[in-house]
Amino acid sequence: MAKVSEGTGGRSARDGRPRGRPKPRDSYDVLVVGGGPAGLSAALVLGRCRRRVIVVDSGRPRNAAALRSHGYLTRDGIGPHELLRLGREEVARYGVEVLDDEVVDARCPSPDGSPGPGAAAFEAETRSGRRLRSRKLLLATGVRDVLPPVEGAERYYGRGVHHCPYCDAWEHRDARLAAYGAGGAAVGLALSLRTWSDRVTACTDGRPVDAGDRARLRRNGIALRTEPVARLDGDDEALGAIVFEGGRSIRCDALFFNTGQVQRSTLPGMLGCEYREEGQVETHGKQHTCTPGLFMAGDADGDVQFLIVAAAEGARAATAINRELQDEDRGEAGVRPNTSSRARAPR
Ligand SMILES: Cc1cc2nc3c(=O)[nH]c(=O)nc-3n(C[C@H](O)[C@H](O)[C@H](O)COP(=O)(O)OP(=O)(O)OC[C@H]3O[C@@H](n4cnc5c(N)ncnc54)[C@H](O)[C@@H]3O)c2cc1C
Repeated sequence: MAKVSEGTGGRSARDGRPRGRPKPRDSYDVLVVGGGPAGLSAALVLGRCRRRVIVVDSGRPRNAAALRSHGYLTRDGIGPHELLRLGREEVARYGVEVLDDEVVDARCPSPDGSPGPGAAAFEAETRSGRRLRSRKLLLATGVRDVLPPVEGAERYYGRGVHHCPYCDAWEHRDARLAAYGAGGAAVGLALSLRTWSDRVTACTDGRPVDAGDRARLRRNGIALRTEPVARLDGDDEALGAIVFEGGRSIRCDALFFNTGQVQRSTLPGMLGCEYREEGQVETHGKQHTCTPGLFMAGDADGDVQFLIVAAAEGARAATAINRELQDEDRGEAGVRPNTSSRARAPR
């Protein structure tokens, strides 16, 4: 069931809006799709710009499996859901609406992005049937990690199975670490993990490793296992071992993987966004996409995928969005050029 939480701690966006600009109930200055750190951070800045903002969030943040989040200055060690709870509380102070729902369709009825001052450029529909219109659209829809296709990976994901050494390796410093990936991918990850421990094993799950990579592993004191992985073992609390096909196993306190990620949402493709080779959405300038009036922020377009970077991208998108709205309000809007050149078919 969709639920809207609206700000109660301060003025509402409508209360604060200059007189003489009434809007229909479902029409917003900005629709933010995705209420992770990128979307909420954008909403905070836009709310403080007195913009009428709605955030629609389907409640599947990328780091939901993590026990704690690290590296976010002043919030190091916070639980992922607590960070979002605090974010929602802060945006509510500025009259931002947050709707627990999923945007399932979005279109841009005026593709040149200049529908006229104050008019809606985007239309969207949620799973619960709510229709929303907005002058600008920010997609902060995130990505989803592809877990290793190994029994036990999902069970220990976020508490012994991790994708990001920057986020979680310090908690396993000096422990027995494994790097899981296809051939060279496991080698690169294993070399990186040596920053945190000198007990590292590269596991390629049946994929070969060439002579050059074998030599690099040897030079850095990293063990190599190329046989297929049968399962991850441990108790209710923690990962304990990697079991290979044939029954042999090694002790392991934490396994880091490098098996890729995919976009959480198909909306960027639906709205004509271009994708980079690595699968992220192409952005330029201050989080602009090639579709006028459409912005992206967070992991979906980011190469450094940290909470704090996602939040910063959201804030940067918000300033660009507000600038465009200001130009339109003054009747000075220009069509933003498409400066992107690298295009490929959406995933
Ligand atoms: C296990 C794990 C641990 C991590 N630990 C850390 C850490 O310690 N420190 C750190 O800096 N980073 C960490 N990260 C990375 C961090 O989670 C991401 O960088 C961050 O969440 C990106 O924020 P975002 O707002 O771009 O996307 P997300 O946080 O993924 O939020 C996107 C939101 O958009 C919603 N959404 C998607 N499509 C739609 C739609 N169509 N309609 C409505 N809503 C939609 C999703 O449900 C989700 O709530 C970790 C990641 C993982 C997987």
